[in-house]
Amino acid sequence: MLETIEKPAEDKSNRLGITRVGGRLISEYWEDLFTARERGKKIVWYNGGALNPMFQAAGLAWCHGEAFAARLAAQRVEGPAQLAGAEYGYNAELCSYSRTHLGCSVLTLQGTEGDQTGVVGAHDQEVLAAKLPAPDFFVNNYAGCSTGQQWDGISYRVFGKKLPIFNISHPFLWGNRPDAGYLRGEEWEDASKFVAEQLRNLIEFLEQQTGRPFDHDALCESMTHIKRAAELRREGLALCKAKPAPATFWDWIASVAPINFLPGNQELVDYFAAVRDEISDRIDNGVSAVKDEKYRLYFDGIMNWNKLGFLSRKFAEHGVAVLAGRYIQNAFWQEPHLIDTSDPILGMAQHYLLCPTNHGAKTLEYLTLRDCEEYGLDGLVFHSTRTCRAFTGPQRLLAKAAQDKLGIPSIFFEGDVADASFYKDGILESRLVAMLEAIDVRRERGALPDGFSAIA
Ligand code: SF4
Repeated sequence: MLETIEKPAEDKSNRLGITRVGGRLISEYWEDLFTARERGKKIVWYNGGALNPMFQAAGLAWCHGEAFAARLAAQRVEGPAQLAGAEYGYNAELCSYSRTHLGCSVLTLQGTEGDQTGVVGAHDQEVLAAKLPAPDFFVNNYAGCSTGQQWDGISYRVFGKKLPIFNISHPFLWGNRPDAGYLRGEEWEDASKFVAEQLRNLIEFLEQQTGRPFDHDALCESMTHIKRAAELRREGLALCKAKPAPATFWDWIASVAPINFLPGNQELVDYFAAVRDEISDRIDNGVSAVKDEKYRLYFDGIMNWNKLGFLSRKFAEHGVAVLAGRYIQNAFWQEPHLIDTSDPILGMAQHYLLCPTNHGAKTLEYLTLRDCEEYGLDGLVFHSTRTCRAFTGPQRLLAKAAQDKLGIPSIFFEGDVADASFYKDGILESRLVAMLEAIDVRRERGALPDGFSAIA
């Protein structure tokens, strides 16, 4: 009997080549961190907004908790840390970023209690493919999420409350006063000053921890590079409005780590200049990111880090260019004009407040609909990120606003940031196909078909 051999689906995604350079920079960064203690560096563990320029200026090595959890998930080696967290008592419904990182705390502590190596428990090093050095202190910089705000507090308890901790408090931007709006109003001005003052207090804390004066010039220099990199990033993002799209949301996801926590230096600027230039070259040469682009969609939700390559191929297979998302357009130094490079503290504080989970529904609706219109999008896909309520909370309101005000449909699928077990491929596949068919019908009729519901 002849066997039928199923041919793999054609890969219609055409990802940017330059992101491989970003991958190398990221690997070098982690390798550097793993050996930081041997080079006499103090190590800070932190979460939330990008405080790395502060740490860079203070001469520290830094570990961003979400980034480390995302890296383990992307490498599919998050299991031992999550198991250690579960054994310690952290429930599977707890944010999988924090669950993974808290598991790292448990493993790190086991390592220090064992042979005093100060690294993740020796027996798990190989599996984790990482050697995360234990922290000297913690700084929490989380806006918009109660889990994030408590995350370092819990790590502090895991380490027996023996390490110093500094917590920055961020007011939620409700945006419901008459004068409130994105980047404006009394609430925005007051909150900006409140957080800026805490950053000045953080500088004093860093001076206590390092035993040396803080280098303000080094902070200005680092922020000058970061501002330039952020401007180039925004230029590249704007170029992606072209039809067909020269690069997609997935390319920008692959470039999250560089803008989020790599040192502010010329190498960072060069990287984002090269990203922008590759996109620009593609436009000049008629090269598209998705073969035969037919649909353009928005992706809302934090990235499902186990699935980056898989999702980019999946959407491309259906002729879908995913082009915008709250996690990309509205995060990561997204308003570089706010940075005064000669005195960057206020602009930094404002970016921390602009975390995409720190806005009321009115502002989120403004940002989402703006991006849907600017990128000429046909629909929205909501990654209902199972253990991240901060992101999923307003998603139904955003879906309804897109339907009511722009007439564009949306679907929801379940997954998670760093726990692959929550992802259900069949649900995404069937809902995506149904929405694309509805978009086809809409194009034929010039309107959404009767009875089509935005919320699947
Ligand atoms: S629940 Fe979401 S926003 Fe909160 S800490 Fe986890 S990933 Fe961050």
